This record gives sequence, structure tokens and C-alpha cells, in this order.
Amino acid sequence: MADEIPFRKEMNFEYGVPRELFPGVTRIVANNPGPFTFKGTNTYLLGQGRDLALVDPGPEDAAHLDAILRATQGKRIASIIITHTHRDHIDGLPALKAKTGAKVYGYGRKARNPGAKVASPAGGEANDEDFVPDVPLEDGSRFEGEGFALTALHTPGHAPDHLCFAIEGTGILLSGDHVMGWNTSVVAPPDGNMVAYMNSLDKLMVRDDSVFLPGHGGRIEQPQRVVKAFIVHRRMREQAILDCIKGGATTIAAVVEAVYRGLDPRLVRAASLSVAAHVESLVERGLVSASGPVAQPDRLSPV
Ligand SMILES: [Zn+2]
Repeated sequence: MADEIPFRKEMNFEYGVPRELFPGVTRIVANNPGPFTFKGTNTYLLGQGRDLALVDPGPEDAAHLDAILRATQGKRIASIIITHTHRDHIDGLPALKAKTGAKVYGYGRKARNPGAKVASPAGGEANDEDFVPDVPLEDGSRFEGEGFALTALHTPGHAPDHLCFAIEGTGILLSGDHVMGWNTSVVAPPDGNMVAYMNSLDKLMVRDDSVFLPGHGGRIEQPQRVVKAFIVHRRMREQAILDCIKGGATTIAAVVEAVYRGLDPRLVRAASLSVAAHVESLVERGLVSASGPVAQPDRLSPV
């Protein structure tokens, strides 16, 4: 592919060691590295007073929980805020909630398709389907902490319940897994939706945030540049997929083989789901027809 995304792979951190990125914004990286999590899940602690808010507990991991509790000694975690319910962000919630008694804020289950069987690109169960926040948030909801305030932005696409959080008056946006600096987000049906994802990128494009702090990887400076690159990248990929189907590819597997040459075998399933997300979007917009189930169509053809 000819498109260039300015990925940023370096990240200055040590597992379990809190790092204050901005006054009142501290990051702790969980030790769960992988092809979908980069170095691991970022947990953020917000606030400069006694009561802190924590964004994304991360995986279920005793060492990460200890690191969080160590970092908050003398203070207390009064609120836990969830960007989305993928397991690498939320599995640590029950233990953290039990230790802190904090109130939990998040989008909640209303974004789910009832009965949809959701699998992660890695093959496991992706979501905590039972998640119910104490305080449901939606687009535009405000959260007031000690010395800071957040505005929630509903940004579905990677996950239907995904929220980004702008820290008011700072130019900082917690971008979760919607926009990351080290790689593109996984957009995989049925949980992920390409049309929603593109709309959610447009939603960030018109803002003037100065830095994004993502759910994985380091900070993103000049974030609109990165968002723009993602939009261009997806449009080019969509065009490549459409060309491939016009050229005679009739299955997702054939498209993956043609579009992603030399792909890491661990990522084939994710790539297949990503192509399926593009195909779903092309079908929705009447550019491709597909027989069979949307996520695994039997036969694709150009319209
Ligand atoms: Zn994640």
C-alpha cells in the first residue's frame, strides 16, 4: 500500500512505574504486551487533589493492581472511568473496585447487539458483556473531578460503547483505542463497524485538541495529522478492496491475500475481520453485493 501513516513506536515507560505526563495526568502501563495491545494497556490517573479518577483498570493482573494502589498512596481512587469494555481495559475492574469502592462510569450495555456472539480478533471473547456502569455516560456527558473536568465523546467503530474523554481546558484528549499512535485500530464486525469508525474519526478531525493520550502506546502530538492519515489509509484500503472484488476476488480470504501481502500470520484473522468491516460498509453503501452472512459472505461481487 502506498499510504504512509506516521506511526510512533517508541514509548518511554517502565512497567508498573507511574509517569506523570502532564500535571495531574499520570500513566501506568500494564504488562500485557501483544500484537493488539502493543507494550500493554495504559491506565491513567487523573487529578491533583485527594480524590483521583482512574481511566481503564487494564487487565486482571495482580502486579498492575499493586502498581496502581502504590501510585495512589495517601490519595484515593474515587472514580473509575471506562473507555470501552474490551477485556484488556476492563478485566482488572472487579478487583480494583473491590479495593477502592470507587464509582464506575462508562457507556454501558445499551450499545450492544443483543444476542451477538462477539469474538476478538485474537479468537477469544472480546468483551465483558455483563458490564453495567454505576453512572452511564453518553456523548457530551461531563465528569467533574478534583481540579479537572472531562467531556465524554461517543466514538463507536472500534467498539460500539467506545468513549474518548477531553480534559477540559488542557487540549488533552484520552483517545482510548479509537486513535492510537503505534498502529491503526482494529475494526472487526460484529463489534466493530467501519461506517461508525469513519464518522468517529471525522468527529475528532474537527476538534482542536493538541495531544491524544491513547489506550496503548505513547502520546500523539499533532493528533489531527494522525487522524487524517487514518482516514486516508482506510479510504485507500477500501478502494484496494473494491478494486480486488472488481478484479474477480469473491471471498474475504482472497481479498486478504491480495491486499495484505506478507502479513504476520498472527494477524491474518484480524485482517480478515478488518476486510469484512470494509465489505460490510461497501455493501451498506450499495457498492458491493454479498450473499450469505455479512461477516462471512459466501460470495462477493461488484455492483
Ligand atoms: Zn485495548
